[in-house]
Amino acid sequence: MLKAFKYRLYPSDSQADFFMRSFGCVRKVYNLMLNDRIESYKKHRETGEKIKLPTPAQYKNEFPFLKEVDSLALCNAQLQLKAAYNHFFSHPSSGFPRWKSRKNPVQSYTTNNQNGTIAIVEGRYLKLPKMEPVRIKLHRQLQGLIKSATISRTATGKYFVSILCETEVEAKKLTGSAIGMDLGVTSFAAFSDGTKVQNPKHLTKSSARLSKAQRKLSRRALQAKKEGRFLADSRNYQKQRILVAKLHEKIVNQRNDFHNKLSTYLVNNHDVICVETLNVKGLVRNHRLAGALHDVSWSAFLSKLTYKAEWYGKQVIQVGRWFPSSQICSSCGHWDGKKGLHIREWSCLSCGATHDRDVNASVNIRAEGLRQFHGTA
Ligand SMILES: [Zn+2]
Repeated sequence: MLKAFKYRLYPSDSQADFFMRSFGCVRKVYNLMLNDRIESYKKHRETGEKIKLPTPAQYKNEFPFLKEVDSLALCNAQLQLKAAYNHFFSHPSSGFPRWKSRKNPVQSYTTNNQNGTIAIVEGRYLKLPKMEPVRIKLHRQLQGLIKSATISRTATGKYFVSILCETEVEAKKLTGSAIGMDLGVTSFAAFSDGTKVQNPKHLTKSSARLSKAQRKLSRRALQAKKEGRFLADSRNYQKQRILVAKLHEKIVNQRNDFHNKLSTYLVNNHDVICVETLNVKGLVRNHRLAGALHDVSWSAFLSKLTYKAEWYGKQVIQVGRWFPSSQICSSCGHWDGKKGLHIREWSCLSCGATHDRDVNASVNIRAEGLRQFHGTA
């Protein structure tokens, strides 16, 4: 089983410089290969000729500075482009692979471990190919064999490493419990045991602060434009931009923390977790819901829940979107028809039971999930 461990890095100035150059070279190779692929495709269509694509190593003659960085990082750029193409072929609506931009503040590269080229030294340093060991904050122990490391820089200039390890994870004790979960709009989620989980208050607060800060940023941009100044030279704009990036980072951290705690709680206490697969794209297009859904960002949560369940020998069952979880009475099975999103509570016309919309849906999701799980029609 592969498990990722993320740590903060504290590179020296020259090491940060090396990271920046590595990001730049990876970007360069990625873009060169993307360009070559597009060109060779055009040629192939015109002449029917099949053109062999160059490898990252072949670009080194034309661009000697590529030799200075980790060659495995360049190979991984090739793999990344391949993955982007495959994703495009299997999900054409996701769009054609895009160019990597120097202007994107978030940059990264990935390298692989070859007989100890990546290692933790003295519990304080991270050994990486082609450079002196970098100071690392090892806030928790690494487990297993190191396969690869991804070094990244955030929008606010912090450096992190995500180390992928091959590790054996022990299955968690079975509890004999199954739970249904409806990812809500007014709450984060409702559960078939009648409980609900709200978005943490600090997260809602930061989100409100973020939108305010973003509005201020657009005003600053507008102001600079009016006065005929470049954004790069506008100090007030730049100050606000960093503030926005910091807030954004804070929200991502708070959200990850919340998702981690909730998913761990669920896999600790239940063997089977039934969830609904929603059409995120379709929902986000609906304006009224966009903000709420963006905030709950539950597709990120589902992926965390799914990999944790896999690690610990638990099951996540996804119930199809077509399943009318909010239309069926969970007490008697009566089909009560479609309900607008504004209806939060309803009474069954057949048995008279009163339902909280989301809790009722989660009870139905649990029943449907278990039906799928046991394979009974
Ligand atoms: Zn009923």
